[in-house]
Amino acid sequence: MKSKKTESSTSWLYSPSPESTAHISLRESYDLYINGKWEKPISGKYFDSINPANEKHLAKIAHADQADIDKAVKAARKAYDTAWSKLSGSERAKYIYRIARIMQERARELAVIESLDGGKPIRESRDIDIPLACNHFFYYAGWADKLEYAFPTRKVEALGVAGQIIPWNFPLLMAAWKIAPALATGNTVVLKPAETTSLTALKLAEIIHDAGLPPGVVNIVTGFGDTGAAIVNHPDINKIAFTGSTNVGKIIQKAIAGTSKKATLELGGKSANIIFDDAPIDQAVEGIVNGIFFNQGHVCCAGSRLYVQESVAEKVIQKLKDRIQTLYVGDPLDKNTDIGAINSKEQLQTIDKYIKIGIKEGAEIYQPACNLPKKGFYCPPTLFTNVAQSNLIVQEEIFGPVLTVQTFRTVDEVIQKANNTPFGLAAGVWTDKGSRIFNLTTKLRAGVVWANTYNKFDPSSPFGGYKESGFGREGGVHGLSAYVKLS
Ligand code: NAP
Ligand code: MG
Repeated sequence: MKSKKTESSTSWLYSPSPESTAHISLRESYDLYINGKWEKPISGKYFDSINPANEKHLAKIAHADQADIDKAVKAARKAYDTAWSKLSGSERAKYIYRIARIMQERARELAVIESLDGGKPIRESRDIDIPLACNHFFYYAGWADKLEYAFPTRKVEALGVAGQIIPWNFPLLMAAWKIAPALATGNTVVLKPAETTSLTALKLAEIIHDAGLPPGVVNIVTGFGDTGAAIVNHPDINKIAFTGSTNVGKIIQKAIAGTSKKATLELGGKSANIIFDDAPIDQAVEGIVNGIFFNQGHVCCAGSRLYVQESVAEKVIQKLKDRIQTLYVGDPLDKNTDIGAINSKEQLQTIDKYIKIGIKEGAEIYQPACNLPKKGFYCPPTLFTNVAQSNLIVQEEIFGPVLTVQTFRTVDEVIQKANNTPFGLAAGVWTDKGSRIFNLTTKLRAGVVWANTYNKFDPSSPFGGYKESGFGREGGVHGLSAYVKLS
């Protein structure tokens, strides 16, 4: 591990503390999980999954095409008609609980593979991603036999076959967000993980297999954008659940227009974190750091725009600079690491492109001195001050550890600025006044508003966007309604 060497007199270096990889096993190559079996792709094509921390090859992954997707959808339809829709809610719940428990048993292995394949710090995959993913299965297992209480006086029916497409930033967690409510409500599933992070979804297929689910209830198909498009365009799919970029979300919306397919789209964000002068400043600084540097800024709801009330701006910016000097950037498997590897070379290029744009737009950049590893994809934590609301780095999603800082004087001004992007996923408010929090929560056009905290998730809380951040809610009772027909 190449730990960060800082110039700060207040920071120190920890000895490396790498998590062991001895307890995990990966196959040389992974096929498609269709109808309860591992099937070779019809085209015979495979692609490589690499570790973004050192660019080493991890496994070969099958590339599914339209013919494979057709097989998976047929299997899901058959499983829906003959097995899953015939089970009572309490029987479905038993299977879902079983998945959750096996995931818990294999949590350590899942955490290490998540960090190896995706680049996120082991502390996060171990303490956040994997436990939350298990909790989603536990939570929705609990609803499976209580749907009449979730929708009192209504008749509740499953939709049928759900096609689910997920991104690379929370691979196993996003799979859980998609699969758990679909199964609880009686649907069957064809799920595609992102091409750079297929491994934990494939491990989940092993777990689902071990849990003894009837064949075809969950099918995991891997591949690129064309594989996702084949799911979206398949005529026998009843529902598309997509999490990913706004651009692909728009393509999907066009593709399903005029069909009877239902859709939920969880898309990009450019969320505002707002600090008032009466906020507990040290906690707020921790919240800002967590909001944007957590998971290398690969978080749809990352607090990527900071608005600080003018009277405390100097103090907050100084404390932020001091704090980010102490962050460890490096090996994701080191338990000391705060910022791991950027998920792919392409994503690093995108982030670098925006950093150059920011400098060209006249913003002032601050990056602490870092010894970045020579191999792999890394980006130091980056602050931009002296930015204008119209700058591209304020308006567009960067999806990396890059924070823009602006100041404000009045509540009305900050509400206007916070709402002034095409997105509306999340926001954070830091203040001592409860009344101010309530005022802002009603005026910020964001699906989630955190108060005096940031990036807190729970399976019982709904999550989703306004405007170009998408529509539909995942999590909580709301997450059930995305998978049912009510009459
Ligand atoms: P992406 O490029 O849109 O990809 C998302 C998924 O869609 C991947 O599995 C991708 O496959 C697949 N895909 C690509 N082109 C497709 C097409 N034409 N038709 C169907 N599927 C297609 O997004 P990403 O770069 O993986 O993820 C980052 C984005 O996700 C960010 O914008 C982030 O804000 C958003 N996100 C949103 C939420 C939320 O809840 N709102 C949560 C997490 C992430 P490949 O991997 O093979 O390209
Ligand atoms: Mg990978």
